[in-house]
Formats: sequence, structure tokens, C-alpha cells
Amino acid sequence: MGVQVSVKGAPTEVRVCEWCADLRTRRHDVPAVDGAWLRSVDGDLSKVTESQWLRATCDPWCSSMRTVTLAPEVGWANANARQVLAALGLEMDGEISHEDIPDMLQKILRVLNIDQIVGRMVRAPSEELGALGCKVIDFGSDTDSFRTRLNDFRNLLIHAHFRGLSVTWG
Ligand SMILES: [Zn+2]
Repeated sequence: MGVQVSVKGAPTEVRVCEWCADLRTRRHDVPAVDGAWLRSVDGDLSKVTESQWLRATCDPWCSSMRTVTLAPEVGWANANARQVLAALGLEMDGEISHEDIPDMLQKILRVLNIDQIVGRMVRAPSEELGALGCKVIDFGSDTDSFRTRLNDFRNLLIHAHFRGLSVTWG
């Protein structure tokens, strides 16, 4: 459970799964082929044909292709997210449109430069009972990690700003 911040509409790239690529190159283990483990070779790798190696995947469910986003992403634990977002007057989920990014960058700099605000962000570790009766452990936060989180958020906003994109979190 946590809050993920990402650049909306960021370009993505399709990459070959590195495990599949490794398996096809080194041929060191029995592959999956056409969505099933290749059991017919009975563990004997010399029985795997060339055409089977070309279609080999690292497991039966892997399509060999992965879509990765080319923009930075930031992930926060809930307690840390609440702190960073509240300091900026933001809700736990939301969006900043491209036009509003410059204002938010200013706001972040203001918060970073006011030691009293940053100083209030020290949170001692604690344990509390969650809504469902389960124990929620908060590892706490010091001012350095608060500053780091704000800077991660800032870098992501700058990335989106220069590409005309907006930022979402939740
Ligand atoms: Zn794979």
C-alpha cells in the first residue's frame, strides 16, 4: 500500500524481457515455448530445437515483451505521502495539470526553504491499530528524508513540465 506518482501520458518503450533474452542467448535452462514449459525434452537441453529456442520464454506467462515508461516515477509509503502532500496542500490522490506545474514548483521551493516547516516534518516511529484491527507500523521520518521526497516530486514535475505533460498520483 502506498502512493504512486507518475507523469501522465509519458512515452513508453517496449523492451524484450531480459530473462527471455538471457535464456535465448545462454540456453542454460529448459525454456517455455508457446505458453507451456517444454516438458517433452525431459530436461535434455540438446533436444530443444533451434526454432524452439527462437520462441523460448522465461516462463509460460511471459510474452517476452515489457512496456516500460520512460519518465521518472516516485513511490511513497502512505504515511510519507500524507506528509509530503499535506505540506503542499494536496489530497492523497489528484492531478496537477501542465499549466499548474510552475506554481507547484514555486510552492515546493518555499516549503524546502522554510526550516520551520521542514522541522515540523520529523515523525517519530510509531505503531497504531489500523481500521481492520491490524497493526500499522510507521517507521517515522526525519527532515532529510522529507527533503528528499520533496525533491523527487520536484524532479518529476520538472520532467513533466518540459514535455507539456501533467502529473497524477494516488
Ligand atoms: Zn520473459
